[in-house]
Amino acid sequence: CGIIGIVGKEDVTHRILDGLRRLEYRGYDSAGIATLVDGKTLDRRRAEGKLINLENVLRENALPGKTGIGHTRWATHGAPTVGNAHPHTTEKVAVVHNGIIENFRDLRQELTAKGHVMETETDTEVIVHLITDFIGEGLDARGAAAAAIKRLRGAFSLAIIFEGDNGLMIGARKGTPLVMGHGDGEMYLGSDAIALAQLTTKITYLDEGDRVELTHDTARIFDVDDREIIRPMNIVSAAS
Ligand code: GLU
Repeated sequence: CGIIGIVGKEDVTHRILDGLRRLEYRGYDSAGIATLVDGKTLDRRRAEGKLINLENVLRENALPGKTGIGHTRWATHGAPTVGNAHPHTTEKVAVVHNGIIENFRDLRQELTAKGHVMETETDTEVIVHLITDFIGEGLDARGAAAAAIKRLRGAFSLAIIFEGDNGLMIGARKGTPLVMGHGDGEMYLGSDAIALAQLTTKITYLDEGDRVELTHDTARIFDVDDREIIRPMNIVSAAS
């Protein structure tokens, strides 16, 4: 339902929570955050219900990290439980997703046959296993994400981070919105500009079918035909 991602210079968990609060107006049933702890290892915290529950989990068990993604979920496939809450992860990759993956049953079957073990009832989980599978075949993070995204049918906005790659976040959108924000040595993704209002006023609206590869100071956008493309940067009015 709501997405925020930060490739940051400083710890991101509090800022992601702040962004998720700005997305509360969209409604949600659970929430979660994943980061690259120590710049390498993926970890996550998730909670059912209101953001205060996620805040309490984080208070008990802090989640450091300068690159991270957060999500408020409005369940479409799988009950609104902690186990089905995003981010979904493997050892290699973490993903948050808005929308519905229509071909998830076929992908799930295919990946399970290859030995992937699914832990949730969601449509989203196939995405992390698909990317992990392409990494296992020897593709790098960017290539694996691009290959996986090509196989998805349905509607999706995605933010993806990778084990061992502190400076990389990949976003994609088809059928649901995703915006990119430019910071000072930081880059952001959000399901809308409101999510990023506390972080930046410099927003690039991604187009249908776009994929974006973000680092601390670069943003490469590829269109639906995989051609690198420039999208305009807009200055939106400052946060109140
Ligand atoms: N279809 C996904 C799920 O049920 C994402 C729902 C959303 O957009 O929050 O987990």
